[in-house]
Amino acid sequence: MRFRPVRFFHSESRGLFMVHASIVRLLPLVVAITLAGCGDFDPDAAATPEGRAIEELALGDLATRALADHEVSANADVLLDEIGARISALPSGQEAQDFAEERFRDYGLDNVRQEPFELLAWDRRDASLTVTESAEAVSGELNVLSLGHVGSYEVEALLLDAGYGTAEEIEALGDAVEGTIVLVDVGSPSGYGRGVHRTEKVTLATRAGAVGFIQVNDREGPLVPIGVATLGDEPTEIPAAAVDYDSGARLTAALSAGDVRVRLVLENWMERSTAANVLGDILGQTDEVILVGGHLDSWDLAVGAVDNGSGTLAVLDAARALARHVEETGEQPLRTLRFALWMGEELGLYGSNAHVEAMMREQLVDGYAAVLNLDVVGDPVGFGAMARPEAADFMSRVRAPLVASGFELDEDHSTGGGIYSDHQPFLLQGVPIVTVRSRQLPEAAGVSHTTADTRDRIDEEGIARSAAVSAALLWALANEPELPMESWTEEEIGVKLEELGVRDPLERAGDWRWD
Ligand SMILES: [Zn+2]
Repeated sequence: MRFRPVRFFHSESRGLFMVHASIVRLLPLVVAITLAGCGDFDPDAAATPEGRAIEELALGDLATRALADHEVSANADVLLDEIGARISALPSGQEAQDFAEERFRDYGLDNVRQEPFELLAWDRRDASLTVTESAEAVSGELNVLSLGHVGSYEVEALLLDAGYGTAEEIEALGDAVEGTIVLVDVGSPSGYGRGVHRTEKVTLATRAGAVGFIQVNDREGPLVPIGVATLGDEPTEIPAAAVDYDSGARLTAALSAGDVRVRLVLENWMERSTAANVLGDILGQTDEVILVGGHLDSWDLAVGAVDNGSGTLAVLDAARALARHVEETGEQPLRTLRFALWMGEELGLYGSNAHVEAMMREQLVDGYAAVLNLDVVGDPVGFGAMARPEAADFMSRVRAPLVASGFELDEDHSTGGGIYSDHQPFLLQGVPIVTVRSRQLPEAAGVSHTTADTRDRIDEEGIARSAAVSAALLWALANEPELPMESWTEEEIGVKLEELGVRDPLERAGDWRWD
C-alpha cells in the first residue's frame, strides 16, 4: 500500500458544519461521527490517514437510501429526452458535457472539471447501396448505413461472402478477397471462443485487399448495426457500412446464383476537433484514487438510452448518493473517489485514453487503486474483478450487507473481462478493474448502435439499483484499509491479458507490447 497524505484538507469546515446540520436526522450516528471527527479536525493527527473496514460502513443502509430517492428518471428526462444523441465535438456532445458538469456541481463534488482532448470527429451524411449486376434480380431497396470513421467514397465491385470475416475465414479466401466488397455477418461463429470486433474485421479485410466492407445484422428486423470501423485515430482506408438482416439475406441469396456487383456510395463528415471528459471528486485522505466512469457520448441514430445513457445515469446517481453520504456523515474516505463521464468512446475510447495518457505523463496512474466502468447498465446481478480471483473475499464482504438489505446479487464473483470500453486503457496499465454485472430488459437485446436505442428499452429502477450497489462497492473500495488487489507489474499485465483472452485483438490493433 502506498499512503501519501494529501497536502490539503478542503473538507474540514464542511465536515464540521454537516455534523451540526444532520444532527437531528442522524441521531444514532452522532456519537460516532463526533468521535471520528475529533481526529480529523486535529491538525496534528491529520497525517495518519485511517480507513474503515467494510463491516463498519453500513453499506446496506447506504445502498437502500441511494435507491429510495434516486434521480435516474429525473436525469433521464434531460439526458435522453431533452439532449438526446450525444455526439463528441458536436453541439449535442457539448450540451451533454455541460449537463454532466452541472449535475456534478449540484451534487457537491470537488474539483468538477471538463478535461479536453483531441479526436477525429465524425458525423454521417448519406449512404446508398445498389446492385448493378446480378444473375438473379435483387428486389427492393437495400437498407444501408455508414460505419464511423469512414470518409466519403463511391466504389463499385463484386460482392464476396466472407462469413463472419474472422482471420481464419479471410485467410481461407486468399487472393479472392482482392478487389471485392466483402459481406460479413456481425458477431462471431459459435464456438469461436471470443467475440470478434467489427474493427478487427475491417482491418483484416483491408489487409487482404478488399475495396469495401459491409456487415450484416444477425437479428431479423429492420435494424442496421453500426459502430466505429477503426480504433485508431485515422479514417478507414476503404468504405465500411452495415445493412439490416433482410438486405443481407437478399444479397446472399443473389450470390448463391452467381456474381453480384454492387455500388456503395458513402458521404460523411470528418474533422480534427476537441471534446471533453467531465470529472469530479470526493477527496480522500490519501492520493490513492477509486474511479467510476462511463461514456457520456452515444451514436447518432437514436438517443443512446442503453448505450450508454444507462451507464451515465448510474454514474451520476452513484455520485449523488456518495456525495450526500459524505456530507451527512462527515466521513472522509481514505481514498479519493473520482467520477468520470468520458466522451469519444464510440469513436475509439478517445476520452479515457487521453485521461490515462495524461495521468501516465504525470506518473499518477499508479495512484488508481481500482476502476469501475459502467457501460450498458441494467438490474444488478453481481460483482466481479477482471482476472483477479484475489478479490473474491472482499467482494463477498461487500455483498453480504447488500443481500441482507434485499439486493439480489450472485454469490459468485466473475473474474472474466474483455476490452473495447473505457476500462481498457486502465487495464492495459495493470490497474485493478472491478465490475458490477447487470441484466438488461429483454427488449434491449440488440438495440445498441441502432435506431432502436430509445428510452423505453432501459430499466430505470434496475439502473438505480445498479447505482446503489455500485455506490456501496465504491465506498468499500475507498475505505478498506488494505485492498486485496494491487497494480500488476509490466510482466504480469501481459500474462493476465492473455488469460483474459484479449491478446489476439490487441495484437491486431497494434496494442500488444509483451513479447
Ligand atoms: Zn458503450
